[in-house]
Amino acid sequence: MSITITRCEARAIRDSRGKPTVEVSLACAGHTVSAAVPSGKSTGSKEALEKRDKDGIGVADAVVAVNDVIAPKIIGKKADSLAIDRLLIDLDGTDNKSVLGANAVLGVSIATAKLIAAADGIFLWKYIADTAKTTPSLPKLYMNVINGGAHADFRLPFQEYIVVPNDETISKAYARARAIMDNVGKELKKKDGAVTMGDEGGYSLRLDTLDEPFDILTDSIAQAGGGAFIAIDAAATELHRGGAYELLGSRYSAMSLSLAYKELIEKFNLRSIEDPFEETDTKAFEAFYADVGDAVLVVGDDLTVTNPGIVAEMAERRAANAVIIKPNQIGTLLEVYDAVSIAKNAGWQIIVSHRSGETMDPFIADLAVGLGAFGIKAGAPTQPERVVKYERLLAIENEHGIIH
Ligand code: PEP
Ligand code: MG
Repeated sequence: MSITITRCEARAIRDSRGKPTVEVSLACAGHTVSAAVPSGKSTGSKEALEKRDKDGIGVADAVVAVNDVIAPKIIGKKADSLAIDRLLIDLDGTDNKSVLGANAVLGVSIATAKLIAAADGIFLWKYIADTAKTTPSLPKLYMNVINGGAHADFRLPFQEYIVVPNDETISKAYARARAIMDNVGKELKKKDGAVTMGDEGGYSLRLDTLDEPFDILTDSIAQAGGGAFIAIDAAATELHRGGAYELLGSRYSAMSLSLAYKELIEKFNLRSIEDPFEETDTKAFEAFYADVGDAVLVVGDDLTVTNPGIVAEMAERRAANAVIIKPNQIGTLLEVYDAVSIAKNAGWQIIVSHRSGETMDPFIADLAVGLGAFGIKAGAPTQPERVVKYERLLAIENEHGIIH
């Protein structure tokens, strides 16, 4: 069906940290949709630019970019997702969306996809799969239950301690991940010191050794009957100071950090490590992947920033075997689909991710299913902004059942 865009309007809303972010409403005859843009804290230096006002906080300029620059160009145009994305890329004209802002551009890009799916009456995940030419499937839940690093004032070295249930269905995996998280909570009550909530809704506390969080996760998984592996996001760019990695007061070279990871892999069921080294240390990624890549997912995030050119380069260099996909790192779905296609052709796994500053938009659930992603990172189900992603996955599980 040919759909003409009749309205495009942005406004500022608040994210899960209470910081302003952009929401875009888009309409055609009979349908209105909206898309909200998340915001990261431990960002890669090569991510597309998130437009902030002079105070570094507000998004009034990004709202103006949508309302005054983008809207006049797309109102009256046919809603064709890839054509609108191409128009947005050309209208911005820079490599990193520094004119319009990736937050302005992405709101319009996602809203366009939603509008077409709504007007055509097809599931959003199905529309994404058709457009990206991917095969939909249900992702594994990467539930971040203990928060550290920049998301919790470095009370623990690694940013995310994640449990990944092996269950085939979302409902079973979600139940298991929640049970494991409850067990973690009970274990932590036995420890000294305050337990607070990190940015992604997980527990945050101070522990003294590298092993301790893994001991707690291992016990908590066993108490839930097993059936899950452990993943981490080391977010090592944040740990890198003065040429070395700082963990619990000790300094590590890339080589000694590799050995520390290998010990953790041997001792615990740790099967997926994101950003094990800082974003420019490609050689450390290459050596680590060559060493452990058969048994472990070596995942790029700051390393690859959802950028098709960088993903291609890292695949060529065999620096990883999995990639985090965060649409706001690049700005349009067209570029997300390119990055995914390159990664899949290289045999990499795809893990779609939220940001630490999230909104009530569940879009990444449809994105993960549509792209046939291996995993989805959506945080702990203690904040409504994370719960909506899991609820949407549960709903898709039923829709998926209807289709297949
Ligand atoms: C991450 O690093 O994977 C993450 C989700 O955190 P942020 O959004 O702060 O980059
Ligand atoms: Mg990360």
